[in-house]
Amino acid sequence: MQTDPHQDIRDAIRALCATFPPEYHRRIDAERGYPEAFVQALTEAGWMAALIPEEYGGSGLGLTEASVIMEEINRSGGNSGACHGQMYNMTTLVRHGSEEQRRRYLPKIAAGELRLQSMGVTEPTTGTDTTRIKTTAVRTGDRYVINGQKVWISRVQHSDLMILLARTTPLAEVAKKSEGLSIFLVDIREAMGSGMTVRPIPNMVNHETNELFFDNLEIPAENLIGEEGQGFKYILTGLNAERTLIAAECIGDGYWFTDKVSAYVRERQVFGRPIGQNQGVQFPIAEAFIEVEAASLMRFEACRMYDAGQPCGAQANMAKYLAAKASWEAANACLQFHGGFGFACEYDVERKFRETRLYQVAPISTNLILSYVAEHVLGLPRSF
Ligand SMILES: Cc1cc2nc3c(=O)[nH]c(=O)nc-3n(C[C@H](O)[C@H](O)[C@H](O)COP(=O)(O)OP(=O)(O)OC[C@H]3O[C@@H](n4cnc5c(N)ncnc54)[C@H](O)[C@@H]3O)c2cc1C
Repeated sequence: MQTDPHQDIRDAIRALCATFPPEYHRRIDAERGYPEAFVQALTEAGWMAALIPEEYGGSGLGLTEASVIMEEINRSGGNSGACHGQMYNMTTLVRHGSEEQRRRYLPKIAAGELRLQSMGVTEPTTGTDTTRIKTTAVRTGDRYVINGQKVWISRVQHSDLMILLARTTPLAEVAKKSEGLSIFLVDIREAMGSGMTVRPIPNMVNHETNELFFDNLEIPAENLIGEEGQGFKYILTGLNAERTLIAAECIGDGYWFTDKVSAYVRERQVFGRPIGQNQGVQFPIAEAFIEVEAASLMRFEACRMYDAGQPCGAQANMAKYLAAKASWEAANACLQFHGGFGFACEYDVERKFRETRLYQVAPISTNLILSYVAEHVLGLPRSF
């Protein structure tokens, strides 16, 4: 009897992922390449259009199902970081884009003709203090002119479209610092070399991410999403989806680590018995597994609220916090109990270890989540 309501999705993703064995992901990582064939296969199978409503050619699934897709990719040994942008960016366009924008872009994204993989929020001089971003968008006639700089903007070289956050009213002229920000759809193919320069950032994970420089980049005024000045509110839709989906990816990683290390410690004999017979080995693995399972429940709660259109900032943040912590503990146990072999690339542990470590920092650091919960859930005084 089937008890998991998402078993069909899990089975389908597992079958697709099985055609991309560990050697594939290992080779791409070593080459610092992009898993183009993998992302293409996900696109052709329709998974990258999961959140696009059926009337625009997608499958009209919710964040719950999208989270299961991301989880299973990571559980299979892959890394959703190559393609998760399309999932959370989609929520922003679907919920806040105009009917005209939805009709223009969604069917092409669903058909795999366009990719919406990038979101440009972070800036080098303001970091997590998002409302102080310095990139500006000034309306001149039927165009907006963009100037400024972004950092850590991912998948720009493998995307056609990007959602960009910029200030349209100076900070000094707004009543609340979250006002006066707007979001735009930027056509990366048109922008590249016509006011937008992309500089790749080599980094610890095989994650295509970049510095962006805007020098009088002109974009059509019709590319504004929603109402001018309300962009911060809109971008939170995408950020809550992003946090929840990345929680799911960490859960997938967590299961990958606990499966991998359990199999290893059952087999590895030292002092004449399996190392997994020692409680000092069993307990950290069991503890990490318990925490992954608990994080998964919070993930489903965040998804449920998101799909019901309810505010879910607290649940999305808490799911991300719990899942990133649990996957990191699972990663540590997995590396530790593989002994020296954990450091050998052919075991994939060191690669997944690097990949899952990112999520303590991005897309939001654990400290900022604690601060959010302290202030917005517990009512403690603002610290910044
Ligand atoms: C590989 C990678 C990919 C990324 N992709 C994207 C992307 O596609 N789009 C995008 O917009 N951004 C992206 N980012 C940026 C990411 O969201 C930020 O790095 C993250 O939000 C942290 O911001 P920061 O790096 O500016 O750190 P900072 O804001 O400088 O903070 C540094 C550290 O200081 C601590 N800290 C800061 N303020 C406080 C405080 N008030 N209280 C307590 N502790 C505090 C935290 O521990 C934090 O980790 C990416 C980052 C990486 C590394």
